[in-house]
Amino acid sequence: MAYELPIPTQGTHTRPFWEGTKAGKLMLPRCEDCNRTHWYPRYICPHCQSMNLGWMEASGEGFIHTYAVQHLVFGKWAKEAPYVTAYIDLKEGDRMLTVLRGVDPLSPEDIKIGAPVRVEFEVASEDTHIPFWRVVEV
Ligand SMILES: [Zn+2]
Repeated sequence: MAYELPIPTQGTHTRPFWEGTKAGKLMLPRCEDCNRTHWYPRYICPHCQSMNLGWMEASGEGFIHTYAVQHLVFGKWAKEAPYVTAYIDLKEGDRMLTVLRGVDPLSPEDIKIGAPVRVEFEVASEDTHIPFWRVVEV
């Protein structure tokens, strides 16, 4: 089935991220001067304002920081509703907003803050593999 949700645009400063997703890797921007990672990709390090930025492969593991069940959605996402969006605290320390899969949006009491999650990728197009997160069974 064709991917029908909006596909993010890619720019030169996000190209390493999208090349990573195509290879099944979650890449994080990392400052070459202060060695700290950050999310989302930028032209300037938010920690030290350096423009000497690179990339590193992240673990792809994290925890649910918080979540929301999306019931009233417009546009192409409407037919996905209800679905769960979540902020994920990456093991590397950054926080990423995402779609959380593998949970029942109609039973939000079963979704646990702090639950471990792992990144997966969905093929949206030849050039775009979209990361999303799924709760890891422990
Ligand atoms: Zn820095």
